[in-house]
Amino acid sequence: MKLAKQQQMIIGNSRLNAEAGETLETVDPATGKVLAEFPRGREVDVDAAVKAARSAQCDWVRRTPVERSRTLLEIARAVEANSEELAWIESVDTGKPLTQARADVRTAARYFEFYGGLADKLGGITVPLGDEYVDYTTREPVGVSGQIVPWNYPLQIGARGIAPALAAGNSVVVKPAEGAPLSLLRLAEIAQDAGLAPGLLNVVTGLGSEAGAALAGHPGIDQVTFTGSVQAGTLVMQAAATNINPVTLELGGKCPNLVFEDADLDAAVPVLVSALIQNAGQTCSAATRLIVARELYEPLIERLRHRLEQLKLGPGVDDPDMGPMISASQLKKVAEQVQAARADGATVFGGEIAPESEQHGGNFYLPTIISNVDPSAPVAKEELFGPVLVVLPFEDDEEAVRLANGTDYGLVCGVWTNDVKRAHRVARDLHAGQVYINGYGAAGGVEIPFGGLKKSGFGREKGIEGLNSYLQTKNVCVRL
Ligand code: NAD
Repeated sequence: MKLAKQQQMIIGNSRLNAEAGETLETVDPATGKVLAEFPRGREVDVDAAVKAARSAQCDWVRRTPVERSRTLLEIARAVEANSEELAWIESVDTGKPLTQARADVRTAARYFEFYGGLADKLGGITVPLGDEYVDYTTREPVGVSGQIVPWNYPLQIGARGIAPALAAGNSVVVKPAEGAPLSLLRLAEIAQDAGLAPGLLNVVTGLGSEAGAALAGHPGIDQVTFTGSVQAGTLVMQAAATNINPVTLELGGKCPNLVFEDADLDAAVPVLVSALIQNAGQTCSAATRLIVARELYEPLIERLRHRLEQLKLGPGVDDPDMGPMISASQLKKVAEQVQAARADGATVFGGEIAPESEQHGGNFYLPTIISNVDPSAPVAKEELFGPVLVVLPFEDDEEAVRLANGTDYGLVCGVWTNDVKRAHRVARDLHAGQVYINGYGAAGGVEIPFGGLKKSGFGREKGIEGLNSYLQTKNVCVRL
């Protein structure tokens, strides 16, 4: 596959360099080699994108809902038609295995299909006020949506915000992560080629502290969608507050799987592994804590160790089981935290920089299991964003739930039990935005609402609920 070595931003109908002419580089995490240069956009570039978005939105909102619906469905088809190219771009830029990148592309296409299908069904309600009144509500777009996307799932997370925003009649300015900007630049081209009017989807590349901060605090936007770290999310929320703009924040997690003594381990084990190693653990909903009934503690660790030993690591484009971590600094951060746990007396399986790092020149880390660790240890509570599983035993259901709820995060939980009453009781008591029972994930989960509690953020994306961030309700009250 070919990649333009000099990438450009997409603003209105133009492909542009940064106004100041500065560039950044994006690197293949498997080899450390530069893939392409892209513009280092700043405030002035964000300004131009917001102007283009505003002007395009005025026309988009006047199109009929069915026209908007059909445009999104065309984008879905175009994404699918370009799926091999998009998957390859995503794989080299993020390091993820091709199979996973292909699944990400399918999910991205599905967002356009799902929200395209809803674009002409966004009606309001009538409110009974008695004979003297007719009262009804309409649902209107917010206007221009500013979206800041991380490097772990650029296409999926990008499409997750772009598709509902467009379906609801908004225009979008996206700031991809500096670590992996390529697939969203290509997506915007594909969307325009599929018939999306210029200006409805603008992509400004650059650093978070420059282009990202300028977008989050821009007075010309009406809403912000952010996915990334708690630290950057806090700054984004503060910047949006200066314009009293609403924000949707998706900030990560330390997600647990709870395995009870009656669980079907044959079903659970492969899922526990894939939920850990997907995207080399660099997933907000990665299942990085295993809370397990005491009697299963040793045998389950043994089974997981056995499976982790079989995994093949390598560059994403070779389609291994697990690819590299996004950057040398992310690798170092994870390695240091595991080393600190080891120094504190925890039992560590894996826990080393993988030999593939030297072989390919990239950032590979061995899938790791940490046991015999205190639940209050940093490694058991903080998000590492790497393929590191912490295993904690429990004595009874109450302790299982207490351990699961014992972090600052509340994104996704898995519950493994064959006792239907226990499953629902535990699901009720878990502090999380989403609970899976006897599974973890639902093929992209486009249709089901997703989002967090506590420091995992707020607002819901995906599903019909995902539209709420991009719509506002107007009430019209007529005195007869
Ligand atoms: P980050 O939060 O710094 O970056 C995410 C996005 O926000 C990027 O596009 C970045 O350019 C932008 N950004 C950064 N600072 C900003 C600011 N002040 N204003 C506006 N935008 C800003 O994340 P990172 O540095 O890429 O990764 C650090 C940690 O974040 C990871 O270790 C992980 O814990 C977490 N993370 C979480 C997710 C997730 O899916 N929830 C994704 C990526 C990273």
